[in-house]
Amino acid sequence: MAAAIKKVGVIGSGQMGNGIAHVCALGGFDVVLNDVSADRLKAAMATINGNLSRQIAKKIITEDTRKQALARITATETLEGLADCDLVIETAVEKEDVKRKIFHELCATLKPEAIVASNTSSISITRLAASTDRPERFIGIHFMNPVPVMELVELIRGIATDDATFETAKAFVTKLGKQIAVSEDFPAFIVNRILLPMINEAIYTLYEGVGNVEAIDMAMKLGAHHPMGPLELADFIGLDTCLSIMQVLHEGLADSKYRPCPLLVKYVEAGWLGRKTHRGFYDYRGDKPVPTR
Ligand code: NAD
Repeated sequence: MAAAIKKVGVIGSGQMGNGIAHVCALGGFDVVLNDVSADRLKAAMATINGNLSRQIAKKIITEDTRKQALARITATETLEGLADCDLVIETAVEKEDVKRKIFHELCATLKPEAIVASNTSSISITRLAASTDRPERFIGIHFMNPVPVMELVELIRGIATDDATFETAKAFVTKLGKQIAVSEDFPAFIVNRILLPMINEAIYTLYEGVGNVEAIDMAMKLGAHHPMGPLELADFIGLDTCLSIMQVLHEGLADSKYRPCPLLVKYVEAGWLGRKTHRGFYDYRGDKPVPTR
């Protein structure tokens, strides 16, 4: 039977964390948002406020709804601050060692009946679950970016995830107004298993000189009716996240077709991670994005 979720913890207040906090607060849940960086927490609260305002302008929500949603969100720099949450969603950086350390510290104070979820884009849910004290109450809840706009959430059961946890997660996601695609626990799940090799191939197309940034993005927007070009989308996702997902696919499926493009590696090494660092396949520091190749 599904458990009642009232209070949701969100670990990591980056682009996904602030979006998840946003939709949870609008869904009527109390939210505790955590980050190691006080500056990131402050920025996240400002982003949530700005995105709620945008929804008012589009007449999706009212001013009253915004006030109520903001009042439901509190911020904390410690994992102890999440101890009484019914569900905690981890959405820190896509690095397995960071996530494992978070789960280790979190489980030491989190109430035993609480469910723990990860928003990982690619890492094995079974393996992450095994690093906690509650593999049966661990699940993958994978939101899409930008969270307030995208309709889909993937649910991924680890080998030990019990039926009650799955049913609770389903009810929670439904209450957020999102559609669910259930994926088996294999590297990168469904959406990113298909999407990331396409993005990686677009980067190879650039690397091999088949087309420049502008040509590649225009080709896929006008030639395949994609709303965003693959390189623009890579910048939007974050090039570090794209590289991590390709590495998980490459290692997890042991197939050379998933080899991350050396040019993607180079951009990440330069710290050109896309929109979030204002430079990636495009330079966002001026009025208009300018291709960097
Ligand atoms: P991001 O870089 O925008 O944010 C990560 C945040 O985690 C930062 O604010 C950082 O300070 C914080 N953080 C790092 N270590 C922490 C710790 N120990 N405790 C608490 N906070 C910590 O990254 P993002 O794009 O929001 O991605 C977060 C997760 O969501 C990743 O696992 C990623 O794979 C997944 N995801 C990303 C997308 C996407 O399109 N970007 C989509 C779906 C899922």
